[in-house]
Amino acid sequence: MTGPVVIIGAGPAGLSAAWTLQQQGLKNVIVLEREAEAGGLPRHCGHVGFGVFDFHRVWRGPEYARQLRERLAPGTIRCGTSVLALKPGGELSIRDAEGVHALQASQVLLTTGTRETPRSARMVSGTRPFGVMNTGSLQRYAYETGQRPFQHPVVVGSEWVAFSSLLTLRHLGVRPLALVEAGDEVLAPGPAALISDTVFGVPVHTQTRLQSIHGEERVEGVTLLQHGEEIFLPCDGVILSGQFVPEASLVRQSHLQLDAGTGGPAIDSFWRCSDPSYFAAGNVLRPVEHSGVAAAEGVAAARAMLQARDGVLPAADAAIPVTVSAPLAYLYPQRLYAQKPLHHKLLLRARVSQRTEGTLRWLADGVTLGRQRLSARPCRRVQLHWPAGDWQGARQLELRMEP
Ligand SMILES: Cc1cc2nc3c(=O)[nH]c(=O)nc-3n(C[C@H](O)[C@H](O)[C@H](O)COP(=O)(O)OP(=O)(O)OC[C@H]3O[C@@H](n4cnc5c(N)ncnc54)[C@H](O)[C@@H]3O)c2cc1C
Repeated sequence: MTGPVVIIGAGPAGLSAAWTLQQQGLKNVIVLEREAEAGGLPRHCGHVGFGVFDFHRVWRGPEYARQLRERLAPGTIRCGTSVLALKPGGELSIRDAEGVHALQASQVLLTTGTRETPRSARMVSGTRPFGVMNTGSLQRYAYETGQRPFQHPVVVGSEWVAFSSLLTLRHLGVRPLALVEAGDEVLAPGPAALISDTVFGVPVHTQTRLQSIHGEERVEGVTLLQHGEEIFLPCDGVILSGQFVPEASLVRQSHLQLDAGTGGPAIDSFWRCSDPSYFAAGNVLRPVEHSGVAAAEGVAAARAMLQARDGVLPAADAAIPVTVSAPLAYLYPQRLYAQKPLHHKLLLRARVSQRTEGTLRWLADGVTLGRQRLSARPCRRVQLHWPAGDWQGARQLELRMEP
């Protein structure tokens, strides 16, 4: 194998992967990052909650990002470098200060993360005044400028990132008027609604949908649809939180297979994409998880890349695809091997699209291998292990909820 190992994206997944490769003695490792500084999303999250799983410490995002960066060999990270295209066999098109050029990698790891759904894709009508932000841009604005973009905003969405925005707003001395969720229940785990009300003083309204935003230069109010009734709420800002999607535009425009369920690249149980020169880990694989999961996936993918270099992985074309159907929204890895690794140890991650109570059936070529009770809620990780059983020679694996 010639050429460097190239990691695209210097967030927790990419930086943890680079560190793992260097710990194992691999010297020719480059991390490409389009921003001016490495660290990914945590760089802009000034609140605590990072480092627990990988460093066993509790840090603010910027400190966590610094720790991830500083354990790499000098010169590993190239900031201000955007990857523009992925080509077969690990050839990349990149843009840096010298212009656009090609880079041939021996292996590539995609760790480009995730992003929140913008307003344009949320079907919210009305005007386009200043004061409409997603959580990521709110955090960046707050911690970089220290200024308040608004005094009385409304937070839309109730995934855990909405509660992260409450922390950021408190840091700015801003108390939102309300947190609204279109669904029947709060999506964040734990007693999030109670905390919002009692700790932050922000009432939570479920079954409440943002219909339109009003105001010419600045936000002046929103129309909410609550239990079938339209309500005008005067406010000066709107935070559109959550509804994450993988940052997979590179994959979408490439020869690599994209998974319709996750919206990210489809991988096998060794983190390999459909072209075995490419691997993927972290939030690019599915809508957002916390940084500990992303970092652990970066480490696991780096180990698999080393195994591939040693020639000990099964041939990629021996993989057996796994399909899922509603209410399972997605599952990854999407391709497994009959031989390795031991399947009771292989962790499969899934999510459901609606509150689910029932029995999950595991099938190989239509033959039932096992059953398992499943109780799950949307926006929560579901961890599964493939059941013991013989599926040598199978062509298609499937997970199905029993009616
Ligand atoms: C508002 C908010 C609050 C959060 N709070 C917490 C928390 O308290 N605790 C916690 O554990 N987690 C938290 N998270 C989640 C955590 O930030 C993510 O899990 C973690 O950052 C994912 O790491 P990653 O490496 O997969 O992706 P990212 O951190 O998103 O990094 C991806 C990197 O890839 C780069 N990139 C993308 N495309 C290209 C390209 N074409 N070329 C070059 N570079 C590219 C990006 O610039 C970025 O730096 C929070 C997330 C958000 C949005």
